[in-house]
Amino acid sequence: MRAEIIAVGTELLLGQIVNTNAQYLSEELAKIGIDVYFHTVVGDNRARLCEAIQQAQTRADLLVFSGGLGPTEDDLTKETVADIAGVPLEIHAESLRRMEHFFSSRGRTMTDNNRKQALVFAGGTVFLNDNGTAPGVALTSGAHHYVLLPGPPRELKPMFRNDVLPYLRSLLPAEEVVHSRVLRFFGIGESQLETEIVDIIRAQRNPTIAPLAKEGEVTVRLTAKASTAKEAEALMAETEKRIRARVGRYLYGVNDTSLADVVVDQLRTAKQTVAVAESCTGGLASHMFTQVPGSSAVFSGGIVCYSVASKRQLLGVPEEVLATYGTVSETTARLLAEGAKERFGSDYGIGITGVAGPDAVEDKPVGHVFIALARPTGETVVKLLKLAGLRPTIQANAAKQALFLLYKYFTHTLKNER
Ligand code: ATP
Ligand code: MG
Repeated sequence: MRAEIIAVGTELLLGQIVNTNAQYLSEELAKIGIDVYFHTVVGDNRARLCEAIQQAQTRADLLVFSGGLGPTEDDLTKETVADIAGVPLEIHAESLRRMEHFFSSRGRTMTDNNRKQALVFAGGTVFLNDNGTAPGVALTSGAHHYVLLPGPPRELKPMFRNDVLPYLRSLLPAEEVVHSRVLRFFGIGESQLETEIVDIIRAQRNPTIAPLAKEGEVTVRLTAKASTAKEAEALMAETEKRIRARVGRYLYGVNDTSLADVVVDQLRTAKQTVAVAESCTGGLASHMFTQVPGSSAVFSGGIVCYSVASKRQLLGVPEEVLATYGTVSETTARLLAEGAKERFGSDYGIGITGVAGPDAVEDKPVGHVFIALARPTGETVVKLLKLAGLRPTIQANAAKQALFLLYKYFTHTLKNER
């Protein structure tokens, strides 16, 4: 099934709001194997909306609309689709009742123009709106399926998840299931990863393989279509095995797992703890740990030592070191990691100091970041990163690299113990 997403709203064309609905819908449709070929944005104008619909009819089987289901004159998506499909609109009693209740329970009077929100396609499908007033509606007419959803994301998303997904699944051939799985990599660039597995990508039709670079990480999404879930999973497992054989050393997790999730898990299994002293990342590494529920068992705490004085006073980096090697140096990073480990009494200490930009610091260029890991054995490893990008990218990348250093230490030690 080929789909087109039509976002309706003059405010989108004026740049007042961003078309996040199209992004959300595309992502969700891809997950169930529906290919989105076009995104269209059109203003609140009947003639141009007609034009957009007619064009979409020539190149898509499924037309998904967002916006223009509200009570005002310029909300005309439903009326226009009804005209084009030649299907009358009728009042949906349950939606009208809900709407009346919505207003009365808030002590407001319902103006007459609101009634049009309860209009639905005769012979169509209705998706009740639990988070607003206008229901979503769907219709199959001729060779086309139309799905119309309210514009506000807090109404559109739950409606899509709860009602539209099952509805769309019922439109797909019964014998077809679509499963997908995301492989998450760190420490390898997108182009390098693609080069390593390019022949697998080129040869593969089912599952499809889609690499994506995002926030310093690379993900590879596998999507398989088959007649049973088991068969789809088997197809993906086969491909995953081949990919792992090539670049498995960079693979840290699957689906929604974050690097912090994995590291917290490793620490929990080892019954060990970590503490962080961070300068240029300003608490980001600590934040990543604390985003994981239950991380208090393994994350002792963090110190943001941003000023020179705080590195000395809070972490005990000697004056001479700071003066001789600088705040951004291998020695300082090492002493930060060791200082954090000692002050928190943890098994591991992480130290991060570097230049997030936009200006160079001391004689170090933007993107130079030292990360250090103090280990329970007493040794400390320090790594110099040369990161690219603007300040937020460098900070995020540096924090993730620090977590990755610990991750690699664990996987390496575990491997050696086996
Ligand atoms: P309402 O009943 O609130 O009028 P509606 O279905 O008529 O809903 P619109 O009037 O088109 O939808 O948009 C309402 C609000 O929803 C917009 O002001 C905007 O905040 C949000 N919105 C609309 N379209 C999009 C979109 N494509 N992406 C993200 N947000 C959107
Ligand atoms: Mg509106």
